[in-house]
Formats: sequence, structure tokens, C-alpha cells
Amino acid sequence: MAAPQEKRSSEERKHRSAPNGAQTSRGQWGRAWEVDWFSLASIIFLLMFAPLIVYYFIMSCDQYQCSLLSPLADLLLGNRRLSDIWDKTPPLTYRAAAIYGLWVTFQVILYAFVPDFCHKILPGYVGGVQEGAVTPAGIVNKYEINGLQAWIITHVLWFANAYYFHWFSPTIIFDNWIPLLWCANILGYVVSTFAMIKGYFFPTNAKDCKFTGNFFYDYMMGIEFNPRIGKWFDFKLFFNGRPGIVAWTLINLSYAAKQQELYGQVTNSMILVNVLQGIYVLDFFWNEAWYLKTIDICHDHFGWYLGWGDCVWLPYLYTLQGLYLVYHPVQLGTANAAGILILGLVGYYIFRVTNHQKDLFRGTNGNCKIWGKKPEYIECSYTSVDGTKYHSKLMTSGFWGWARHFNYTGDLMGSLAYCLACGSAHLLPYFYIVYMTILLTHRCIRDEHRCLSKYGKDWKRYTAKVPYRLIPGIF
Ligand code: NDP
Repeated sequence: MAAPQEKRSSEERKHRSAPNGAQTSRGQWGRAWEVDWFSLASIIFLLMFAPLIVYYFIMSCDQYQCSLLSPLADLLLGNRRLSDIWDKTPPLTYRAAAIYGLWVTFQVILYAFVPDFCHKILPGYVGGVQEGAVTPAGIVNKYEINGLQAWIITHVLWFANAYYFHWFSPTIIFDNWIPLLWCANILGYVVSTFAMIKGYFFPTNAKDCKFTGNFFYDYMMGIEFNPRIGKWFDFKLFFNGRPGIVAWTLINLSYAAKQQELYGQVTNSMILVNVLQGIYVLDFFWNEAWYLKTIDICHDHFGWYLGWGDCVWLPYLYTLQGLYLVYHPVQLGTANAAGILILGLVGYYIFRVTNHQKDLFRGTNGNCKIWGKKPEYIECSYTSVDGTKYHSKLMTSGFWGWARHFNYTGDLMGSLAYCLACGSAHLLPYFYIVYMTILLTHRCIRDEHRCLSKYGKDWKRYTAKVPYRLIPGIF
């Protein structure tokens, strides 16, 4: 089966024409060239406090049964000092360093040295060598898509160990969770710092680098667009997908194993969280080639935001529901469990179908059917830094005619389902929906700002036709 991704880039190149510069800006999309004070303040805040936020959440489970308010209350009332909390925090251990080192090395080997086999045997799966989108400098990178294979091999080994070999306990991740946090932080900072130095001294593609002149902004949001080592080791694809997302399902499995060890059973809420998040992760790897066309890969530069975020923020905060359920095993009534499952599945359906509609539409250059009809769209154009003009299309059919980011709406419904599975006794598991709402709303605004600078008045025609962002008639 021809990969839609392959067609898209070649279609776009077919439509190249001489630059006219009349209606588009020149390669101005991607992260900003200049920093405003608000962005700078937010960035400094995040650089200072994001690691503390992660620590606070994990520590409050470890020392306060996942109560977010108790540590603060203890400190404010003088019952405990910061040093008391710190003294009770497990330190970095050789064991955790060895586990983490082996884990990352194993994922590097799977990513860099095991060419994809899955696309040869799985009908409909797009893997192997695929093209990314056109970068602002007009480059089309090639990627080896083998994430599904890495996920399968890792999970087969996990289950083989848990049920047959017994090399290590399946609770190993939970049992070393805080020592592993220190390792993840070290990797996150090392990779972000390396990416910054590389951007200055030996960038993979100098034309796709952006310097604002502000150290903090450049460190956080990245300088290089697609840093690579050698021809194939792409930082963004590796760190975004693995080790964080491959680990996501393993972390949940480790939490389920811990519940089994502590209480002699796995609750239905833990199964729900494992299943719903498992579908989301598997979907990510099944559609890894599609992921090459998402904002993370197409528009974000690689800095601390992606490097540290993928190593620490994602595996630690996206898995809070499972962690919470180890401390508070919740057995849901059948109606509640069914309601949450339906919400999660409907959210996933909207998320997947919306993303698929755009992928199909872009991959076939509009020559497809959306909900049984030829899709409607707005013709648009943009210009890369080398002055080449490209033509593209913005679809106004299917879910893309309902709202400009209905895929985010589906994602938010799924996120809410994970949180609801944890009951209502504590705030901590609800962090995820609050965070995702902020992330995706901000992303919506960021993306639209970028699209406006990329497509100019064509984007305005599109927003006039599809006026809502997330919820038709409301926002
Ligand atoms: P989208 O997949 O929505 O991509 C946005 C891009 O699509 C735009 O920049 C534009 O790019 C193009 N586009 C916009 N409107 C149209 C249209 N009408 N027709 C055709 N193309 C259009 O966004 P993301 O990359 O942010 O998200 C991808 C998925 O990943 C989402 O479902 C999101 O929920 C999920 N996600 C999950 C996160 C998590 O942490 N769990 C984090 C971020 C995303 P172009 O320049 O090509 O025109």
C-alpha cells in the first residue's frame, strides 16, 4: 500500500512555482525569532519550577499517600521542614542508574540498529523509511519508522520476563520510581544542553537553526530544528517516542503488578487506565509515520521543552493515575466503569478519526472521500526561506468543518476518562486533565499564530469558514 505520507511531500513539490512573495511570509513559521517578556517570564518559571513540580507530585505519593495539600500544610504549620521531606526522599542509586542506562541503551539499539520489519507483515501499517514535512529551509528529512516494532519487542520481553524468565520483578519500575527520576532528569538536562551546544557549533542543518539571542529562550525552545547524529539518529523522533512513550505502558503495567502484590488483586480502575492509555500509546506507534506531520516534529525546535519534557515530564506526570491507584485502589461500580470506558473510547474515536481525516486529505491532495463525499477545502500557499513557493490546502469537511482542532477535543475527552477512573477522593489524578486542557488550548493558539504567519490571508479565509477552535458554538 502506498504511504500517504510519501505522496504528500511529492504532491507539494509538484506544485512548486516561482516565488511571488505577494501573499505569504518567508519561512517565518516555527518557533519565534524574537522573545516577548511574557514568553521569557514563562520560560524562566518553567525552567526553575517544572522539575520541582514533578518532584512534588511524586514525593506527595511517596510520603503523603498522594495528597497534594498535606505536604504544603505540614510545611506551613511547621510540622515538618523542607529538609525533613528531602531526607526521606530516596537518593540516586547504582541500581537505578544501571536500570535506566540499560533501558535507554536498549531503546537506542532498537531505534538505530533494527530496521523496521512490521510494515512487511502488517497490512495497513506504514513503517520503514518515510519522509517528514518540508522544513522552513525547504528540506524534506527521511526517517526510519520502527516505533511499533520497538514497542512490541519491549513488551514481549516484559511479559516473557513477568511470566516465564523472572529475571526481575514486574514491580521494578514502581520500586525504583524516585531513584529513576534522578536518572531521567540527568538524561533530560544532558540531552538539552548537548542540543544547545550542537546548535551553536555543529548543527545538522544551519539554515533551519533559530537564534533569538536570549539564552533561556534558546535553551528552552531549542535552536536546531532537526538535530541528528549521523544520517538517521533523529533527536526529536527518538526522544518524543522512546524512551518516554514506550515506557508509558510499561510503567502502568508495573503499577498494576504492584497493586497485585500489595492487595492480591488488580482493580477495574487500574485495568481501565491500563487499557485506555494502552490504546493511546499503541495508536501513537501504529501511526508513527503520521506523527512526522504533527507540530512536535514539523514545527518545534529541539530544546529543553522537548528533551527534558520527554525524559521526565511525560513518563512521570502522564502516568499519575496508575501511581495514584497503587496507593488508593479504586473498585468502580459497573455503571461507572462502563460510562468511563465509553467516554474514553468515544474520545479516542474522535481523536483518531479527526487525525486520520487530515492525514488522508493531505496525503491524497484532497482526492479522497470524507464521510462519503469529496472534501471541501481552501487553497493556500506559503514560501520557504529559499524563496520557493508551495501550495497546500486546508480542509473544511468532516470533523475539520466542525472545529479547527476537534482532534484536541477527542484527546481531552480521553484524558478526562483516565482521571475519572480514579474516583473523586483526591486532586492528584486530575492534574492530567487540567494540564492537557492548558497544553492543548495553548497549542491551539500557538498553532494558529504560526498558521497565520505561514498562510496569511488564506488562513483568515479558513477561520471565517470554520470559526470555532475546540467546541462548535462555544470556543
Ligand atoms: P494537528 O495534527 O491538528 O496539526 C496542526 C497542523 O495541521 C497545522 O499546523 C496545519 O499544518 C495543519 N492543519 C490545520 N488545519 C488544517 C486543515 N483544516 N486541513 C488540513 N491541515 C490543517 O496538531 P498537533 O500536531 O498539535 O496534534 C496532533 C495530535 O497529537 C492531536 O490529536 C493532539 O491531540 C495530539 N497531541 C497529544 C499530546 C499529548 O501530550 N498527549 C501533545 C500534543 C498533541 P500545515 O502547516 O501542514 O498546514
